[in-house]
Amino acid sequence: MKPAHAAIALVIAILAIPLAPISDYWIVLLDNIGLYSLVAMGLVLLTGVGGMTSFGQAAFVGFGAYTTAVLSATYGISPWLTLPLALALTGLAALAIGSVTVRLSGHYLPLGTMAWGLAFFYLFGNLEFLGAHDGINGIPPLRIGTHDLFDGRSFFSVVWLVVLAASVLTTNLLDTRVGRAIRALRAGTIANEAFGIDTARVKLIVFVYAALLAGLSGWLYAHFQRSINPTAFGLNIGIEYLLMAVVGGAGHVFGALLGAGIVTILKDQLQDILPRLIGAQGNYETIVFGFMLVVILQSARNGLWPFILNALPPRPAKPLVPADASLPQRPKPSGPAILDVRGINKHFGGLVAVNDVSFTVGAKEIVGLIGPNGAGKSTIFNLVTGLLRVTGGEVYFQGNRIDAMEARGIAALGIARTFQHVELAPDMSVLENAAIGAHIRGSAGLLSGMLRLDRAEEKRLLGEAARQLERVGLGAYMHRPAGSLALGQLRILEIARALALDPALLLLDEPAAGLRHLEKRALAELLHKLREEGMSVLLVEHDVEFVMGLTDHLVVLDFGKMIAKGVPAEIRKNPVVLEAYLGGVV
Ligand code: ADP
Ligand code: MG
Repeated sequence: MKPAHAAIALVIAILAIPLAPISDYWIVLLDNIGLYSLVAMGLVLLTGVGGMTSFGQAAFVGFGAYTTAVLSATYGISPWLTLPLALALTGLAALAIGSVTVRLSGHYLPLGTMAWGLAFFYLFGNLEFLGAHDGINGIPPLRIGTHDLFDGRSFFSVVWLVVLAASVLTTNLLDTRVGRAIRALRAGTIANEAFGIDTARVKLIVFVYAALLAGLSGWLYAHFQRSINPTAFGLNIGIEYLLMAVVGGAGHVFGALLGAGIVTILKDQLQDILPRLIGAQGNYETIVFGFMLVVILQSARNGLWPFILNALPPRPAKPLVPADASLPQRPKPSGPAILDVRGINKHFGGLVAVNDVSFTVGAKEIVGLIGPNGAGKSTIFNLVTGLLRVTGGEVYFQGNRIDAMEARGIAALGIARTFQHVELAPDMSVLENAAIGAHIRGSAGLLSGMLRLDRAEEKRLLGEAARQLERVGLGAYMHRPAGSLALGQLRILEIARALALDPALLLLDEPAAGLRHLEKRALAELLHKLREEGMSVLLVEHDVEFVMGLTDHLVVLDFGKMIAKGVPAEIRKNPVVLEAYLGGVV
């Protein structure tokens, strides 16, 4: 079934269900599941996909609910007019809270969300104009034409049409350039910035998006319940939302619906059954509920949605035509020193990792950077690509001084790299990882992606990624998760990702480590070919034969200091180099 047909079928089902002979009780339960699904869907994006755990989503539900409650109950404004205001206020609050929160790392992030989750619960309960602990009553129902949506049955279609729309938009969002950047967040690699992704901004986008879904749910909730008080927006409800996302399958949009359904129905049924079993009143369901969740999390770490996904027939991967260089290409530079490193230093506390190193890389040159482990080679890569700041000295690229620039800006100038310790997103496909390299060659934003207006550009970006994968010999693996590749292939994938940026200068950090003989030969051929096409390469590699056969010049480092520079034949004979590094190898 085509997605459009599936959507039409779902719309018809959503309109028909309230007419079916289903008891009011179950209809109301389904309404609630719809409301929870919206919040859980935001959490799927934030926590499952983006890797940022939030216990505080209920507070944003509160923002949406209280905004519309005050405006419609106290000031008599129509609920439909309060919707944009509720979303705007939630969005602004999320922007403010998020810009502080998403900077936190490790445990501090979830702790931070707990802190403001609690703070807003008490704030809602203490503000007189929000009705303090009693909350706000007499909120008008939603009205369509002359028809008031008083009961759960008339409310059903509105909630679920909103959930359907949110599912479609969110699924679309994940399948875009911005969506890839969001999904790459979780791997937490430094590669993202090196490929021009503004990770802080992407995190904030996800944070606000998740909050908006929560605010939307709160707006609906207020007009459904018609009276609200702070209990619905406290920290324990925030924890429940998170559990819904996790139980359903925190990496999948539909996991949110499944999780909201399971948690809501389970809780409801347990509330019914347990007092009868135990013969006493009390919150026993919370205990059983907690126990069941632990079991689910133990046996299905990725939630339950993947089980359903596995039971469904596999969806064929979208056919992809490797683009024939359809993205605009950077003019290849010329000149003897497109990269000009002048007397750079890097101190880590008392350790001098790079000590007054100068060298140049000319157009169409392959320059080798060699030296024993710990000599400072990778540090130089990090200094040139802006992932670390120089302690002293200057770096120029095509005449621009870049040593004080952000990694993103340097990437945009045309420097791409690979990492000694592979920095890829293992859960994303090989193709998507390569497409991260092309990120800055696209411009489609969040909205155009959600509305599918980015398809032409997406095709070009993915086409370019596919072209580079074919070129390095990974075409057959395109649709596999990157995590399923062998280490040597991952290194090659890193090269494809770097090439997808269309760099003028390519920095390769030990690309041949872990490659077999034939693979090394293929890599050497690729580098020769790239040079012919006008690429400049700076290469760190321990395989001496590989380096000597490939490079035009060599720079030799030892303990951060440059001990020699020259053509391979000279370096081979240089006594200082032989002593420090090459030893008996050559
Ligand atoms: P190479 O790549 O030549 O093997 P590196 O550039 O990785 O060497 O490391 C050079 C020296 O700097 C080593 O002594 C290493 O321990 C140190 N070093 C590298 N990165 C850091 C860092 N982020 N903090 C502290 N020390 C570092
Ligand atoms: Mg290194």
